[in-house]
Amino acid sequence: MIEFDNVSKNFGDTRVLTGVTGEVNRGEIFTVIGPSGAGKSTLLRLIDLLDVPAGGAIRINGLDIHADKEKSLSVRRMMGMVFQKPAVFNTTVTENVAVGLRFRGVSKSETRKLTEDALAMVGLAGYGERRARTLSGGEMQRVALARAMVIEPEILLLDEPTANLDPVSVAMIEDLVVRINRDLGTTVIFSTHDMYQGQRLAHRIGVLMDGAFAQVGTPREVFTLP
Ligand code: ADP
Ligand code: ADP
Repeated sequence: MIEFDNVSKNFGDTRVLTGVTGEVNRGEIFTVIGPSGAGKSTLLRLIDLLDVPAGGAIRINGLDIHADKEKSLSVRRMMGMVFQKPAVFNTTVTENVAVGLRFRGVSKSETRKLTEDALAMVGLAGYGERRARTLSGGEMQRVALARAMVIEPEILLLDEPTANLDPVSVAMIEDLVVRINRDLGTTVIFSTHDMYQGQRLAHRIGVLMDGAFAQVGTPREVFTLP
């Protein structure tokens, strides 16, 4: 479904991605494991069209997503992204979750229903009127996840979503990601510097080292010694 074809990216003289090649299959949880600075965020930002590669291509359903501005917009609409730092607007929880639906012109009553469903899904039913920035880090991250999910994306991009969270919130987010994938069939790309977490969640793993995938495979393939 998502194909990385020799993707490269540099910032000035810093070569971050030197040639990422691999594939993410529809409906799987694909974890990108790599040490801090390996380029995980850079790769996910390229998929989310927040940046452009220096060379190579990322194809989704066969379409080079960076080649055509208009087509990439439709691709972008099928993706939701959650960042490492819980990012919420200084408004209510409900408004934070509803914002993507507003952009899509969904009616008010439908927006209310979908928003309530999304908040219930992340265990924040009844939190709608709270100011998002008064919540804990783990709760804010679940608001961000609800915002990404409410648009029913085909692809969910999670960039080290649990890196700064307490263990209970980490477990909760992991549980949610598994349920979202299993129940909704959402294709998930989840980056982490924690190889145990990457192994725990993945159907398949890409190990990002020195700017490229050193290995792509199932947890068994990646972690079993030859
Ligand atoms: P990871 O997510 O694996 O920790 P990143 O993709 O955030 O890695 O960063 C990879 C490298 O690229 C780091 O050395 C980082 O400093 C550099 N980098 C990332 N974004 C930028 C940027 N906008 N400008 C300059 N350097 C950047
Ligand atoms: P399920 O429907 O699969 O049983 P729930 O919706 O009950 O899942 O809860 C999902 C997760 O959110 C659980 O780990 C639960 O402990 C947590 N949770 C549920 N309600 C709240 C709440 N009001 N505040 C914080 N966490 C909650």
